Amino acid sequence: MRTTIDDHPHPRSSPDVLSIPVLLLNRFFAPVAVASARRALVLLYGGAARAVDDAGETHDFTDWRRLPVRQLDDGVPLVDGEVRVPRVLHLVRYERLPAHRVRLTRKNLLLRDDYQCQYCGRHPGIRELNIDHVLPRSRLGEDTWENLVVSCRSCNLKKGRRTPLEAKMKLLRPPREPNWSTTRHILLLTKQPYVEWGPFLAAG
Ligand SMILES: [Zn+2]
Repeated sequence: MRTTIDDHPHPRSSPDVLSIPVLLLNRFFAPVAVASARRALVLLYGGAARAVDDAGETHDFTDWRRLPVRQLDDGVPLVDGEVRVPRVLHLVRYERLPAHRVRLTRKNLLLRDDYQCQYCGRHPGIRELNIDHVLPRSRLGEDTWENLVVSCRSCNLKKGRRTPLEAKMKLLRPPREPNWSTTRHILLLTKQPYVEWGPFLAAG
């Protein structure tokens, strides 16, 4: 029988099992990114990556499938059994070193500004937070690290299409591009990294 990765885990497993974060290492075992278990299993199945076990040994998919799903493991059901979700994956042909530049995204802006309104200093929760253009877009303010800050809805409304100076609102700190290392970024993105990641993150 052909082994395929089941997109519809049966009810016994957590519905989020395919979203579990997996640490990706490049050919030189340096951390490069975090992927979902779904993506990790596709990479493993396709031969682009090998799964790293607790002892640091690497396994291809056929090998990995034979390992038991232990109590503390997460398992993904396949048509003919269950496969352990690897915590760490080795990308055997990926040579690039981690990118130094952090991508300008809403998530990364929230991380840079610590989910804090950069005008009033409140932490109102993610749903109440907007991304504010310091120099408004209507006045040709650009999408850059230096021109985007996290703002609560009320500060955003109050400021409107004005600059902070015109609105008499002061920024907590000047917005800058973050210079996080890949490891720092991974730790920011993942609140509770797995113990298995430790040795690789420490080296990265
Ligand atoms: Zn505010």
